[in-house]
Amino acid sequence: MVGAGVVGLTTAIQLAEAGATVRVVAERPPGKTTSAVASALVGPTFAPAGHPLRRWEDASVAAFAREPEGSGVRLAPGLLAAREPDPTTPPSGISEVPADAGLDDIPGMRMAEAGELPEGFSFGFHARLPLVDMGRYLGHLERRLGELGVEIQSGRVESLAGLGVSLVANCSGLGARDLAGDVTVEPVRGHHVVVENPGIDAFFIEAPYGRSWAGIFPHGPHVILGGTADVGDWSTEPREQDAAEILRLCRAVEPRLNDARVLAHQVGLRPRRPAVRLEVEEVAGVRIVHNYGHGGLGVTLAWGCAADAAALLLA
Ligand SMILES: Cc1cc2nc3c(=O)[nH]c(=O)nc-3n(C[C@H](O)[C@H](O)[C@H](O)COP(=O)(O)OP(=O)(O)OC[C@H]3O[C@@H](n4cnc5c(N)ncnc54)[C@H](O)[C@@H]3O)c2cc1C
Repeated sequence: MVGAGVVGLTTAIQLAEAGATVRVVAERPPGKTTSAVASALVGPTFAPAGHPLRRWEDASVAAFAREPEGSGVRLAPGLLAAREPDPTTPPSGISEVPADAGLDDIPGMRMAEAGELPEGFSFGFHARLPLVDMGRYLGHLERRLGELGVEIQSGRVESLAGLGVSLVANCSGLGARDLAGDVTVEPVRGHHVVVENPGIDAFFIEAPYGRSWAGIFPHGPHVILGGTADVGDWSTEPREQDAAEILRLCRAVEPRLNDARVLAHQVGLRPRRPAVRLEVEEVAGVRIVHNYGHGGLGVTLAWGCAADAAALLLA
């Protein structure tokens, strides 16, 4: 197994639970991956029934619902809202939203009344979705793996077929660009500002069009504020102007954030690809299952993709 982000850890758990002997090799430990930066709302993908994204999302939602208290997962109330549509603003590119997207079957969906929307917003709906505190959840997944007898080894892998084993799961995220020679994987840089929680319980997310939008994700004592999307930008250094823009957008939606103390800045690179790569490849007698390229939906799709990847590898 290559990779110890949310996709690698969930895939390793599925493989170990299916009876395989698993070893995870990762250049970065879970806490230093892109996965550790995610906000991390599970869904909605808006994919219609039958679409692979919808199947993976549904399987993940079910798996998150089974996680115990203390794992970092909770079912959170929230508002998803959009401003007046601007046909000149392109999508941010952080997730694949099918053209025939619908609101059907989103848990707890209720259209927002005009008076419930922040100023400047013309459309919105309430929902109850899994919200994951990734700092805690990645630790929980590591403990689950430990209980299954799986170790995470630190190291950079140069060749998927050169690991000395016959079955390999490639969950290297953006690293697949080099490791699998896949130039269609590219970064979509995202900045978060982490602030002290002034008493917010519900999440808020603006439809992510353009370069920046308001995103408010409360995780107990802290709130993650976003978001930004810079396609093709490899820098993981925080930028002052991004932070200022995020704070401006979020404070306009939620005035309780005006005096919230800034605790940290986080930057992550979403591993975008035209579509998730989830397929088997045979290289020099080694059976490889690729599971990467989840863009801005890696947490949302993790458990569904992990189940498919494990089934494909062990078939
Ligand atoms: C700002 C931001 C907000 C986000 N919010 C959400 C959200 O709300 N909901 C959601 O679903 N998703 C969200 N995402 C997306 C999500 O974080 C990613 O899709 C997900 O983390 C990808 O997980 P991964 O395991 O594939 O990759 P990563 O977490 O990047 O892990 C890749 C692993 O592979 C290892 N690796 C790579 N190359 C090699 C190599 N050659 N040798 C050894 N190891 C290697 C790395 O070291 C690492 O351990 C967000 C992302 C960002 C940046």
